[in-house]
Amino acid sequence: MPTHIVKCTQCGTDLDVSSFAPGQIVACPCGAQLTVPPRPLQATQPPPPASQVGAQPPPPQAGAYPTPPNVPPMGPPAPPYQQARATCKEANLALIFGIISIFCFSIILGPIAIALGSKAKKILATNPHLAGSGKATAGLVIGIITTILGAIWLIVLIASLASQ
Ligand SMILES: [Zn+2]
Repeated sequence: MPTHIVKCTQCGTDLDVSSFAPGQIVACPCGAQLTVPPRPLQATQPPPPASQVGAQPPPPQAGAYPTPPNVPPMGPPAPPYQQARATCKEANLALIFGIISIFCFSIILGPIAIALGSKAKKILATNPHLAGSGKATAGLVIGIITTILGAIWLIVLIASLASQ
């Protein structure tokens, strides 16, 4: 329960009247008698801050309106034959190895991602019906970056070991 504070009209002391019902008489230490005002309150219990009010609207809106953002995801499934394009397997692998190489074994997996990415690009160049050139490029680029970082890491490691 929020604290209910009443300022004494005589001495100005803040009196905690939380345990008193509205309308009751409370005696202040100074001797003044105060009537507890109705509970709907004071600064002690502010209304929901403006920042919260600002943060909350999105969910209600999503429920209230049939929001446009929800509609597009429903639309696209229309042309299924376009999605039937098989994705180049090497492109997928290049991306997977590239992503894993970010986290571990970059010096090994990075070059594998590069090899798979460039292989996928060759395959895609000769098989235009295959999808996945974006993945192949991503795998290739990530592979190059992680290989370089892995190499730097290795050099630093060797240098620090050698200096001991
Ligand atoms: Zn008083």
